[in-house]
Amino acid sequence: MEYEAVIGLETHVQLKTKSKMWCGCANEFGASPNTNVCPVCLGMPGVLPVANAEALRLTVLTGFLLQCEIPRFAKFDRKNYFYPDSAKNYQVTQYDRPSTREGFLDFEFNGGISRVRITRAHLEEDVGKNNHFDRHSGVDFNRAGVPLLEIVSEPELTSAEMAHAYLNALIELLVRGGISDCDMEKGMVRCDVNVSVRPKGSTGLGAKIEIKNMNSFSGVRHALDYEIPRQIAAVTRGEKLRQETRRWDDLGGITESMRSKEDAHDYRYFPDPDLLPFTPTEEWIASIRAVVPELPLARKQRLIRDFGLPAGDAEVLKSNDALGDFFEKAAAGGNNPKGIANWIINNLSAQLAASASSLADLRFTPGQLRELVELIDAGRISAKVGQEVLADMFATGDSPAAIVDRKGLAQVSDTGAIEKICDEVIAAHPGPADDFRAGKGAALNFLKGQVMKLSKGKANPGMAGEILERKLKG
Ligand code: ADP
Ligand code: MG
Ligand code: ZN
Repeated sequence: MEYEAVIGLETHVQLKTKSKMWCGCANEFGASPNTNVCPVCLGMPGVLPVANAEALRLTVLTGFLLQCEIPRFAKFDRKNYFYPDSAKNYQVTQYDRPSTREGFLDFEFNGGISRVRITRAHLEEDVGKNNHFDRHSGVDFNRAGVPLLEIVSEPELTSAEMAHAYLNALIELLVRGGISDCDMEKGMVRCDVNVSVRPKGSTGLGAKIEIKNMNSFSGVRHALDYEIPRQIAAVTRGEKLRQETRRWDDLGGITESMRSKEDAHDYRYFPDPDLLPFTPTEEWIASIRAVVPELPLARKQRLIRDFGLPAGDAEVLKSNDALGDFFEKAAAGGNNPKGIANWIINNLSAQLAASASSLADLRFTPGQLRELVELIDAGRISAKVGQEVLADMFATGDSPAAIVDRKGLAQVSDTGAIEKICDEVIAAHPGPADDFRAGKGAALNFLKGQVMKLSKGKANPGMAGEILERKLKG
């Protein structure tokens, strides 16, 4: 019998807020251990939490980005457990009344668009971090109480590659929306991977194995590449899989059993008595809906549709917000969006990288880049000279036309002038000239190159080719 994998992901991302979820401590990575702490996030008895409004806003905004329903009633619950990283012995989360639910994410996969439904995205708090040293361990509570969004997918992913594509798209969307910086290296994204197998074509679900706390995409991929064949081999042998929690051992490249899966009643969830239910007003929700940015995939599709861009160019422009904005401003009112995209992706990006600067530092406007492309399209300058003009625009912020005039870079399309240069080139290179006359077409390119060189790139290359050919054949 053939088996297929069924995967559901629970993705935790730290929200991009200035302060923590229930107190004024900084939400900051990399501070000395236990410096961003106070009685509230240390769970001292008698303290009272105050909800972070920005975290609530980002949660609802994520709901819109993921096409979720936004319930008008949500609440916070305590999930009780003991672990040294949680001074409170509970984690505040949204158990049965989350702030967003029932949405979906569309993403590119296997040459098409896949849709995975989102069960919910709910708000909770991060816990501290256990650090292990040679002879002792310590707990750093700087992270305790940082707002965390848990995004739960339906079990609809069917391969490691698909899970990877989903995660990429999810993170792109969260970064775009300003929800989270999603910096993996700083532990801002962590994922629980749930996976089971079932006979291909059946619709039931097999026993779920949960692999906890993956903090890299490659880890998710490797864990699934190990776990799926392991489960298939087991059921093929006739074993019955039991629901359990496993740990991914990155060094060993295997998953290993941690415990049989706990049930909800083990956590004795109950509504947090210190926190009011969250009942957002229609006005507040509308004010968030009004600022939902365009989704990356939607932008890509629009760039292809409205500007006729090749998919590869649209991909580059959609995955960089600022570059995409620059392109759209430059292309507006012009008639060569493809040429403009090309200049932005190839030349502008290269110059930005070379000078380690960003679009915000540019001394010229998107409209001036369009003018540059128009000068090339009109044959006023060659593409090669265009590079020089662009470098000058970087340095001076002058308009391309002014630079062309100042430096005398206008392309020479004057037949007499080009003829004169062609005569000089033919005289200086009798060998290649004879080669061409003898039928070696490639020699013409060499001679043309010499004409361009002698004219300092200003000769109209099309005319140079024609004139050379005429002279050599004549
Ligand atoms: P829990 O409440 O134990 O966390 P849920 O059933 O709410 O479990 O699901 C948690 C995650 O596990 C979700 O992402 C869901 O899609 C996924 N999931 C649930 N059942 C299965 C299964 N049989 N196989 C794979 N993934 C599953
Ligand atoms: Mg879970
Ligand atoms: Zn605090």
